[in-house]
Amino acid sequence: MTAPADKEPPKPSNFLRQVIERDLEQGTYAQRRWDGQPGDAAHHDQGPPDPAKIRTRFPPEPNGYLHVGHAKSICLNFGLARDYGGVCHMRFDDTNPEKEDKEYVDSILDAVRWLGFSWEANGTSHLYHASDYFDFMYRAAEYLVEAGLAYVDEQSAEDMRHNRGDFGNPGTDSPFRSRSIDENLQRFRDMRDGKLEDGAAVLRARIDMASPNINMRDPAIYRIRRATHHNTGDKWCIYPMYTYAHPIEDALENITHSICTLEFEDQRPFYDWLLDKLAEGGLISQPHPRQYEFARLNLTYVITSKRKLKQLVDDGYVSGWDDPRMPTVVGLRRRGYTPESIQLFAERIGVTKSDSWIDYSTLEGALRDELDPKVPRAMAVLDPLKLVITNWDEMMENAGHAAYDGRYLDDCSAPVHPHIPEMGRRSFKFGRELWIERSDYEEVPPKGYNRLYPGNRVRLKYGHVIECTGTIQDETGAITDVLAELVPDTKSGTPGSDKVKTKGVITWVAAADAVKAQVRLYDRLFSVSQPDTGDVDFLEELNPNSLRIVTAYVEPSLAGAKADEKFQFERHGYFVADRVEHGVDGKRVFNRVAGMKDSWGK
Ligand code: ATP
Ligand code: MG
Repeated sequence: MTAPADKEPPKPSNFLRQVIERDLEQGTYAQRRWDGQPGDAAHHDQGPPDPAKIRTRFPPEPNGYLHVGHAKSICLNFGLARDYGGVCHMRFDDTNPEKEDKEYVDSILDAVRWLGFSWEANGTSHLYHASDYFDFMYRAAEYLVEAGLAYVDEQSAEDMRHNRGDFGNPGTDSPFRSRSIDENLQRFRDMRDGKLEDGAAVLRARIDMASPNINMRDPAIYRIRRATHHNTGDKWCIYPMYTYAHPIEDALENITHSICTLEFEDQRPFYDWLLDKLAEGGLISQPHPRQYEFARLNLTYVITSKRKLKQLVDDGYVSGWDDPRMPTVVGLRRRGYTPESIQLFAERIGVTKSDSWIDYSTLEGALRDELDPKVPRAMAVLDPLKLVITNWDEMMENAGHAAYDGRYLDDCSAPVHPHIPEMGRRSFKFGRELWIERSDYEEVPPKGYNRLYPGNRVRLKYGHVIECTGTIQDETGAITDVLAELVPDTKSGTPGSDKVKTKGVITWVAAADAVKAQVRLYDRLFSVSQPDTGDVDFLEELNPNSLRIVTAYVEPSLAGAKADEKFQFERHGYFVADRVEHGVDGKRVFNRVAGMKDSWGK
């Protein structure tokens, strides 16, 4: 028996996979122990060997909904852990004493689960909060002070900025840099005990004020801020800086590969400096985690900044975080994207070390490739124009058919999926009055136009061949009806039906059984391909036509569509039944996920 995994094509390699494979080969992390929960060296040393071959983590700040860039990071971190016998931790980076919003926390957990990943492994839930490590972070800071590796700086913020120097000029030592260890320890405790005002002092690492890397010029590691923390309440009036907290969070959790975006590259020397010092002091287990940077996802025609996406929601530019135009995970979901299509997208874009823009069509392409082999087909007319078959009644009468309610109707059918006969067939009626697309008729056909115009024949897909005879117009000259005559013995699927050849085939639905629906035609959220990169305010770059709502007629098989169910509307693209339960004004709502072909690059 072959395990399914053996049949899967090998995943394309990338620099992160190479690093992990090298570490596994060399047994870099083979000696590490894990005592079931995050903790310091003494804690883990009592534990059994770490059952996870590698540990990665996804560490969002719970201050908004996740977007497609986070989805890339989730697929990457959870995907690597899955592929290499590891575990990926779900960590809320809540070291900022802001009010934690339960709405955001819940939505983040939902998004990760929906994307198909889990932080449960080896019987443990690896769901952590960075604020649970505040005690250790404080202890580690005292250790640094005692080791002469940190000092309390009481310069004004302005002096501190000035004395940091810049790219061309080395910094200048703070006058507080040479205080004794005892004095520093006392001052640091004073900070902790609330004896200093907010902003009156910071704790800084003592590294090198002349370092060419400005991040190594004695970075601040603790600041004073009187704020209530959702987890620790008023216990602390000092809080660790992100650059100090993050490496410690990784170390306590036994993370092996700490993957972050490129803007943290300049922080890596401090990451290593800090963890080297704490490991030397025996505070954290060794070997300590290593940081690796990859290029963040920039996707054309959208923005990926939680703060700016929040502004679109707060100021009413979109209907909410889950507006189907939003690049949030909930927005993509409501738009009709599936977890598989997003995973496929993440795999296709891969990971690189240089920033670039990924074309939105790559995301749509992944969706089409995922849905095409699976989803039911249906006919829908999005811009309806009435077509009247003038000889229909007469022909049906002559053939001896019976009328129902004064109407003659004929049964037609089509495969639910052209390549999967097991999905069965769908049925619909053909009658005297049908709906066709307005664009399928031209009074004066442009060159190469094969659809309806006076004197031309077309096939109504899965129905009959008709010949256009003219139109009826209202007093303004607008066409209200297209008139046509049925060509006898041309019904699809009946013997000899293909004797009459036509160049054009059009889709349609019968007035008798079509279902009215609201269809939301979503387009690019922004009208420029790289929004928010120039001097223009990103709000001015919004596409005013990103949503067009039409009343459509769809075939009866769609009447029972369940929320979230996806379809291919023949010729039109991929659509999803919106989760609005009973539709709008009793009409079912369908959202366009993507067109049949790429229209983004054009
Ligand atoms: P934002 O600026 O949108 O708030 P962030 O990076 O501050 O994004 P976090 O919540 O801190 O958001 O991010 C959690 C994780 O997601 C981080 O590890 C970060 O590297 C990753 N991430 C965020 N944005 C992107 C992106 N566009 N592409 C890839 N990874 C991303
Ligand atoms: Mg952030």
